[in-house]
Amino acid sequence: MKQSMMFIPTLREIPADAEVKSHQLMLRAGFIRQNTSGVYSYLPLAHKVLKKIEQIVREEMNSAGASELLMPALQQAELWQESGRWYSYGPELMRLKDRHNRDFALGATHEEMITSLVRDEIKSYKRLPLALYQIQTKFRDEKRPRFGVLRGREFIMKDAYSFHATNDSLDEGYEKMFNAYQNVFTRCGLNFRAVIADSGAMGGTDTHEFMVLSDIGEDTIAYSDTSQYAANVEMAPVIAKYEKSSESENELEKIETPNQRTIEEISSFLDIPKDQCIKSILFKVDDKFVLVLVRGDHEINDIKVKNLYNASVIELATADETKTLLNCVPGFVGPINVSDDVEVVADHAVAAVMNGVCGSNEENFHYKGVNIERDTEVSKFEDLRFIQEGDLSPDGEGIIQFAKGIEVGHVFKLGTRYSEAMNATFLDENGRAQPMIMGCYGIGVSRTLAAIIEQHNDENGIVWPDDIAPFSIHIIPVNVKNDSQRELADKLYQDFSENGYEVLLDDRQERVGVKFADSDLIGLPVRITVGKKADEGIVEVKLRKSGESFEVRTDELAEKLVQILSK
Ligand code: ATP
Ligand code: MG
Repeated sequence: MKQSMMFIPTLREIPADAEVKSHQLMLRAGFIRQNTSGVYSYLPLAHKVLKKIEQIVREEMNSAGASELLMPALQQAELWQESGRWYSYGPELMRLKDRHNRDFALGATHEEMITSLVRDEIKSYKRLPLALYQIQTKFRDEKRPRFGVLRGREFIMKDAYSFHATNDSLDEGYEKMFNAYQNVFTRCGLNFRAVIADSGAMGGTDTHEFMVLSDIGEDTIAYSDTSQYAANVEMAPVIAKYEKSSESENELEKIETPNQRTIEEISSFLDIPKDQCIKSILFKVDDKFVLVLVRGDHEINDIKVKNLYNASVIELATADETKTLLNCVPGFVGPINVSDDVEVVADHAVAAVMNGVCGSNEENFHYKGVNIERDTEVSKFEDLRFIQEGDLSPDGEGIIQFAKGIEVGHVFKLGTRYSEAMNATFLDENGRAQPMIMGCYGIGVSRTLAAIIEQHNDENGIVWPDDIAPFSIHIIPVNVKNDSQRELADKLYQDFSENGYEVLLDDRQERVGVKFADSDLIGLPVRITVGKKADEGIVEVKLRKSGESFEVRTDELAEKLVQILSK
């Protein structure tokens, strides 16, 4: 492609409203332009990369046995009403009316659409399993669109859905998709982790998120420094064992602690380590009040508390509720002598605290010399805290570390959530109607594009991995008015294009400094500069990634490029 004919509006300045590297670079290198909040045009270079990512996705989906289709983005409200999500999805679902005043949604995801499609066509177990996917624009009216195309309101997603007759078949399908995802993100040159996203009833393997490691990620991942283990931080179980020391237990004593509410305040006021303090927080779990205890240096993981009660809602008790139930203001709440209306549960670590300190349910007083099993009526000791860096990895191998991640993909065992709601059944071997068992699998294609840039850049611009780059080779004649330079550049452009390389020829009448700056910004793997030595048949090759540059005779160039780029 000749650069003079392409639309690559590069910018010298860093756009003021772009906070993260990928967003800045996509604007500066002429990849995207914003239309309105969270809505972007993908300019030709970005479009080329998107097509490459899509191609990788297609190859991997096809080899996982899924076939491609394309469903409507415009979806009648009735489908969403059948599943119930018309009411529960909230304002993220973009809704509109047609000229007959009928309600529609713009597809945020396609479980409803595909379930209705498959239920009308598939009646027998003999036609299962079935896996289908599409690559399509999705619409979500995100509360905070940000970071360019990383969180858009209109974005490109690959969504796949599988339908099964048995749970074993779902497990198999899920594993195939999981492996396909590993391949996709590896081929995209990403440093990523497959992360356990929900520990649910099926033992922690029923949903994984694929996270690109990056400081700008919104999610925290707990991963093992030596094994493959990785989980969303709120999902990671703690397997630590705690031993109570063999000192002797002191007597319980109430002490005055004026205005000392937080663990920090108490531990410095009494000059004791935080792990000798006991943190007590009153929660409302569905309709039940639960006082949760963790060690002062730990944090309560409310998802674990919620799961303990199989509850659907967990929230902090209000000051009024705390007053009514414990006769106390928050900050001095504690587990000793609480009424039967409150259940007390504690993290395992609390049992091993020797002569600890906790709130007394009396303002400005705490207890010291607290030994939980002796002094309180804890109903159960459970794993109720967040895992921390330095904890043992839950798989028993290695130590936990934290990293931030950008979610680029999600695989999920849906089960019969949609097939039951929408009556998608098949006849099993015994002729009985059963709901289809489903899986769903998403990849944020446009988000992946940004995530690749987020991980592959330097101070001069983007540094494309070879297989994803919009072009492999950037040919730059230093002076297009010089006949031999222009002719040699044209010839190399012709030759390499005919040889199957994707080549961008900078035939613009620009200063060479401008061309080099744009070239670094765009970030193609190989730059060939045709300059003064054109007459001698010598050009300069520069590798974007390493910055290495060297002169090559044009008759040796083809061989050299084969070594550099595995085409
Ligand atoms: P997030 O937690 O980031 O909002 P999600 O859980 O809502 O993601 P899914 O519904 O699982 O995402 O969608 C599948 C994939 O689509 C995600 O893994 C992500 O890569 C991508 N995606 C989701 N929302 C957006 C968005 N607003 N912009 C770009 N990509 C998105
Ligand atoms: Mg979301």
